[in-house]
Amino acid sequence: MRKEFLPFTRPAVNEDDIAAVTAVLRSGWITNGPVGAEFESAVAAFTGNRFGVALSSATAGMHLFLKILGIGPGDEVITPSMTWVSIANMIALAGAKPVFVDVDRETLLVRPEAIAAAITERTKLIVPVHFAGAALDLDPIYEAAGEIPVLEDAAHALGTFYKGRHIGAKNALYSFHAIKNVTCGEGGMFVTSDEKLADAVRRWKFHGIGMDAFDRQNRGRSPQAEVLSPGFKYNLTDMQAALGLSQLKRIAELNGRRRQLALRYRERFAEVPEIRVLADPAGYDFVHAWHLFVVRVDTPKITRDEFMAELKKRNIGTGLHFRCAHLQKYYREVMGFRPGMLPDTEYNSDRICSLPLFPGMTEEDVDDVVATVKELLAGR
Ligand SMILES: *Cc1c(COP(=O)(O)O)cnc(C)c1O
Repeated sequence: MRKEFLPFTRPAVNEDDIAAVTAVLRSGWITNGPVGAEFESAVAAFTGNRFGVALSSATAGMHLFLKILGIGPGDEVITPSMTWVSIANMIALAGAKPVFVDVDRETLLVRPEAIAAAITERTKLIVPVHFAGAALDLDPIYEAAGEIPVLEDAAHALGTFYKGRHIGAKNALYSFHAIKNVTCGEGGMFVTSDEKLADAVRRWKFHGIGMDAFDRQNRGRSPQAEVLSPGFKYNLTDMQAALGLSQLKRIAELNGRRRQLALRYRERFAEVPEIRVLADPAGYDFVHAWHLFVVRVDTPKITRDEFMAELKKRNIGTGLHFRCAHLQKYYREVMGFRPGMLPDTEYNSDRICSLPLFPGMTEEDVDDVVATVKELLAGR
């Protein structure tokens, strides 16, 4: 058994990152400032888009986007149930109805036909997820959406490319939460090609005055600027942006390392029939960001929950991304969702588990996880 606990993830913080954050702390300007602005430009440039607006989280971005589109009671928002609950929560809090669509059983990506079938005259927004860092089939999704806005949930997908370009060409939300490929500790960014939307998010994220202290000081805007409409306070500090910016400079290396480890897992698990790895989506060219390495524990020998507990006893951490949203208490009891509504999502929700995957892991760690899993299954 391993002597040291192997967590399912660990942020890849190096000395450059620490120096970058320290420099902000020493500068005397620790909240919105030049580093945040640089981070916004860098993410927009990396993802091949025009505007980035840094936020305190991706969840905050979802909240703002719903507000800006004026989505509320009577409106429907299409999203998978196999996602982080914050997306469904923001829809519910807006008073709108989440319309959950099933995902492909083997890729966990939403199928364009499922989106097309869920559209009604009340559909105001579509929020598909680039699950685990694999690319959605965007062309048919945008075709199905027509005039309906699409907000790509790119929380897993910094470094995900579809047909040769970075995903999120129109509107996308990135997350820089501690477990994401690039982290600010906490943080998010709305990235868009639409200047009006970028301005709206900028205004809504900072009291509705459309600028922050740094803008006032450095961009020559008036300190007497007034509230145009009430807004929230969802800005990202420069201390956080410095960490994200420093990590972004290494993203090719970070994601490349994730890829090597993930491919090693895939190869090793090919001979373990009880453990079913996710499939790559077929039919289009894409680059995987390998945010998560998700497997399905599919055997009468052991349940997923027991599997996670047994690995923990053997000093290996795991994660659960995700328990489907539609069967959580609130969504069952208040919104009336029932088991059986989304069979492929539910199949996965009962069996998925994220194995350790982070750039600081070694090949031996991967082999250790696989050997431990084999030993665990052999004993039953
Ligand atoms: C992490 C995550 C989010 C939310 O990001 P925060 O920055 O934590 O708000 C949204 N969607 C998915 C799929 C995520 O994994």
